Amino acid sequence: MFSQQDIRILLQTSSSRQQELIETYARLPKTQCRREARCCSLLPEMTLLEALAIIQSMMDMPASDRKGLIQKISGYFFINPIEITSCPFLNGQDCLIYSDRPFGCRAYGLWSPAYYKKVAEQSRQVKTDLQKQWERYGVLLPKKVCDFFMPYCLSIKIADSAWIDDKMLLKISNEIEAISEGLERWHHVFAQIYFCDFSFLAAAMMFGTTESVRMKFRLVNDIIATGEKTALDKIIRTVPDFFEE
Ligand code: SF4
Repeated sequence: MFSQQDIRILLQTSSSRQQELIETYARLPKTQCRREARCCSLLPEMTLLEALAIIQSMMDMPASDRKGLIQKISGYFFINPIEITSCPFLNGQDCLIYSDRPFGCRAYGLWSPAYYKKVAEQSRQVKTDLQKQWERYGVLLPKKVCDFFMPYCLSIKIADSAWIDDKMLLKISNEIEAISEGLERWHHVFAQIYFCDFSFLAAAMMFGTTESVRMKFRLVNDIIATGEKTALDKIIRTVPDFFEE
């Protein structure tokens, strides 16, 4: 499990890997996007190395901006089983961490329709499994959330001289995974315990891993039963800034 101290040490010791990550992203073609932000309905999965880049980006923000963002991320973590609220980094039509956005955001719209369909089906299966897990604890998640998936994007334009295909995208994705694997056991902890979910990592840094899961279960149960978000709003108002010195 991650403590704030673990994250600080990882940040201090991963600068050469961060540089490799930037160079690997640079191999993706330049694109033009209409910023309809439909792809920003969900926070994408990512590797630990990418999560660290986002944490660094948040640490570099003014504390007042970061506070609001931490509130959005914690709200997203607690409520995502029952509401599609959009990625917490989305601000209007803009991304607050655009230069550090993970591979999932960069590759959306570049996959072929066939590959995207395959990934969407896998994601649907993951959601069905998650729905069954909640059901075992007596919680029925809303159908509109379980059925939600992001449509294939037809609006991305690749710069004239550039090209990309699924094979190259998979190669880049695997390379990013391999660079992150250099973080050794932490890379696997993030994938297996935190399911590559940045919002879970952030909640764990605020409340502890086990306690964040307990809180999520209580809050989801409470909101489904009462339709009220009073308890959630109270927690969000008082979240600590885990980057404050
Ligand atoms: S990180 Fe940025 S680009 Fe990616 S889904 Fe969130 S708002 Fe969109």
